[in-house]
Amino acid sequence: MLDPRNLAPERYLAAGQELGVRPETLRRLSAAIIGRDEHDPESWVRGCQVPRRVLEAIGAPLPRLELTETRTSSRDGFQKLLLRTRDGLAVETVLIPLHKQGCVSLCLSSQVGCPVGCAFCATGRMPARRNLETWEIVDQFVIARNVVRASGRKVTGAVFMGMGEPFLNYERALAAAEVISCPYGGAIAGPAITISTVGLVAEIDRFTRENRRFRLSISLIAATDARRSLLAPNLRATPLAAIMAAARRHALARRTRVMLAYVCIAGLNTGEDDARALAELVADTPVRLDLIDVTDPTGRFTPPDAAELAAFRDALSRELRQPVVRRYSGGADIAAACGTLAGRAVT
Ligand code: SF4
Repeated sequence: MLDPRNLAPERYLAAGQELGVRPETLRRLSAAIIGRDEHDPESWVRGCQVPRRVLEAIGAPLPRLELTETRTSSRDGFQKLLLRTRDGLAVETVLIPLHKQGCVSLCLSSQVGCPVGCAFCATGRMPARRNLETWEIVDQFVIARNVVRASGRKVTGAVFMGMGEPFLNYERALAAAEVISCPYGGAIAGPAITISTVGLVAEIDRFTRENRRFRLSISLIAATDARRSLLAPNLRATPLAAIMAAARRHALARRTRVMLAYVCIAGLNTGEDDARALAELVADTPVRLDLIDVTDPTGRFTPPDAAELAAFRDALSRELRQPVVRRYSGGADIAAACGTLAGRAVT
């Protein structure tokens, strides 16, 4: 199908030209569908000069996700959208208000459920149903952007940190990121898009090799293999040293700091020994470490209190000596925080 939401831009242009459609027409069509959310085939024919004979190849009417519920946090303005796929599955998308007034970043899902199954994550506890199609990821962007625009704000970034591990759905997730960053697609700057992974080494290397314009965030979960295996047993086959080696290759190839995300769990991974282990693991690889409080609606895992976190940060500044940032994970009252997306509007 010639759906510009479902093909990486260069493949979309190539497929359209094979059908005899001019590149300018294809770009206009993509801008109408993704940029302005125009879905009336007559407007594509009249406004974009799409030959009528091509409508069937485009697949009109295009499939859509259905927005079933919108929730807004009373604490911090985070919003969560509950969307339904055509086969009846629930997908969640989070709207993250940024410090810059009127700007919003979107947290997109790439799978329904997640086979990685991290112990502290609601997505990991739900059944892993399937990968999302490229158009389903792009449609999250379009629908969430409509909500943002309706309130007079604008979308300036996107993070692939919602439900699922994007690198387990590499082709589609990266194609969606390309569509979202394309000037005649979502028109979001490439560096304003972040792809998050729990550390799939082959895919990190592929991402580096392909020289994608997006930012990479690697979630370490713990500083030692033993503790990581407790929190993410399905990842035990890949040692942290191998992940850091891939992170280092990425940092050196890009000449940048690689972003490491670290979910902080009281009594489990925020001791002084963890800070030391983290520093040893990272060594001289240039990184930025983002600390995120765990949010676990079951109460099994809790974030460190202020004293434990302060001691961990002190130890990190002594041992690691690299930038450490505390990342806010909001929308806890509407189950929109990191690790709480489970295909329902509220818990
Ligand atoms: S934390 Fe990420 S990788 Fe782990 S189960 Fe949740 S969505 Fe999957």
